[in-house]
Amino acid sequence: MSETASPLPLPTLPALAIRLQQIKSRMAAADATDRAQLLAVSKLQSSAAIRELYALGQRDFGENYVQEAEQKQQELADLDITWHLIGPLQSNKAAQAARLFDWVQSIDRAKIVPLLGHGRQGMAPLQVLIQVNVDDEHSKSGCVPDAIPGLADLIQQQPNLCLRGLMAIPAPADQDARRQAFRKMREWYQQLSERYPTVDTLSMGMSDDFELAIREGANVIRVGSALFGARKSA
Ligand SMILES: *Cc1c(COP(=O)(O)O)cnc(C)c1O
Repeated sequence: MSETASPLPLPTLPALAIRLQQIKSRMAAADATDRAQLLAVSKLQSSAAIRELYALGQRDFGENYVQEAEQKQQELADLDITWHLIGPLQSNKAAQAARLFDWVQSIDRAKIVPLLGHGRQGMAPLQVLIQVNVDDEHSKSGCVPDAIPGLADLIQQQPNLCLRGLMAIPAPADQDARRQAFRKMREWYQQLSERYPTVDTLSMGMSDDFELAIREGANVIRVGSALFGARKSA
């Protein structure tokens, strides 16, 4: 018997492959039309794990921290990954984020919009989502729902930004409260898509609730721990 406790195994190809397949089949069971796309949330996960998922066909990855993402992008520069910023965005990082990412899902205030547009100059348009504080909680990031139309107008005025839709992180709550939050998001999303033809993305649902989110209309789900296993702490 060994004297030291063996360390927890790192995610390996079989484990990741099995989890990816389980999530895909749960997604299909929640919606037979296969509308929803999986965004793999790789914050605090290794570049090696991202590379393994890429080899399994996963192309979209979500990161929360600009600096951490930049390092991974350098390590994975040989892969054709679509990178999404899903974490809160500081004004002083906006221009850098606009250049590093393909998508920014966390626009939550007017100030950030021209900073992103300016940072993106000379490149293909940045795809963006407005993050909504659907529960109206002071502690949460995201704009108040009443601010959606104004932010959408501002984004529309930026030639280097393309408005694609809405994102939310509902507060942990019972099923009914979450369902209500998802339904509100869907309603605002539908209003927005009637006004802006480029709007086609409703990003909601995570490891704990992605099936419910899909049933309520999500077409991008953001899954971290259910896919990669537990994260290291920040
Ligand atoms: C971390 C994170 C996720 C993924 O959370 P899991 O519960 O690990 O699936 C999704 N969206 C955002 C914005 C996150 O920060």
